[in-house]
Amino acid sequence: MKDIFEFKASVDNDAYRFTEEIVDSFIAFIESKSVFWGGGYSENYIQGSICCDEKLYIDEEDLQNEIVAYFQKLNDNIEVEISIFGVPKIRFDYLQCFCCGYFTIEERGNYQICPVCFWEDDGGRELTKISSPNHMILKEGRENFSRFGACDERFVKYAIKNPEDKFKKGDL
Ligand SMILES: [Zn+2]
Repeated sequence: MKDIFEFKASVDNDAYRFTEEIVDSFIAFIESKSVFWGGGYSENYIQGSICCDEKLYIDEEDLQNEIVAYFQKLNDNIEVEISIFGVPKIRFDYLQCFCCGYFTIEERGNYQICPVCFWEDDGGRELTKISSPNHMILKEGRENFSRFGACDERFVKYAIKNPEDKFKKGDL
């Protein structure tokens, strides 16, 4: 057996609980993908690692997306976190940073600083309007990101290496 990745599906909303039936149907779903789940669950979470036969080739990203989709279909309140062994979590419920395009933002317009490019998310996505917390226009931030790897050259030294291992990226 080889481990593929770990996941945690959790709810902190009273309106939803993981029951034995849900866990059983999750196991059936997992087995239909020819993989195995080793882990535990409570009313608030299902977590563990996904593994498969050494010889079996699994498209990890596809499988991660399918697991996320599986839980999202069960209930909107379920949050799913995936972590690859040794690498911090990939969160699928994050929103896209308008500067670098990685999905790093927990809540839109909440002045969160993107850990990839250091753009402060003020919710604006107009390219040529000055963003006051960032002291520049978005277009400039994007250009800086593609040139230096951060929205401002002075943040380059803090930029994480290989952000694609931690966050998914989309087109802007
Ligand atoms: Zn960013």
